[in-house]
Amino acid sequence: MSDFYKKILENNKKWVEEKLQINPDFFNNLAAGQTPPLLWIGCSDSRVPANEIIGAEPGEVFVHRNIANMVVHSDMNMLSVLDYAVNVLKVKHVIVCGHYGCGGVKAAMGNSSIGIIDNWIRHIKNEYRLHQNELNAITDEKERFNRFVELNVKEQVFNLAKTSIVQNAWKVGQELSIHGWVYGLNSGYVTDLGYNFSCDKDLDSVFQLEF
Ligand code: ZN
Repeated sequence: MSDFYKKILENNKKWVEEKLQINPDFFNNLAAGQTPPLLWIGCSDSRVPANEIIGAEPGEVFVHRNIANMVVHSDMNMLSVLDYAVNVLKVKHVIVCGHYGCGGVKAAMGNSSIGIIDNWIRHIKNEYRLHQNELNAITDEKERFNRFVELNVKEQVFNLAKTSIVQNAWKVGQELSIHGWVYGLNSGYVTDLGYNFSCDKDLDSVFQLEF
């Protein structure tokens, strides 16, 4: 067994002991059920751990992660997580959190084929196409990359709002806000990008569903 592999097993034992020292019922309480107020949709990037960034304890965040924090309306994995979070757990908030330096977004700006992931990256390329006038006008490549990360988050927040799951929750008066954040790998800070919605009035009418 590699040292790393051994270390993570030992770390787990230490973590359990620490938690039990603080609260002997810590795991019994968690085993009884979960009522997290938040669904986090983030990037799979190992440097963007949902719970740690926001100081959340186990039981406080329901998490879905994929490459470049995408909300793809035919992705059954994302839809299942979203449906369970909204309709069973009744989360009050959904946060889409992107991050500067995102490899998926970077790949979408280039032409290199990486493999099967090209087909996932294509969803991100579609967002580039939507904002190409603004993005192509930015001459500094780093700045353009950063802006694309932000615009991708914006589009994923809108994609969330367009789902039947979120719109149905709003229609029945369920309290549900969706937000777009970006995380700075260099600083550790998140920025609320100001794309906050709690109803469908800001969607193009063609996307507003009637139930
Ligand atoms: Zn990423």
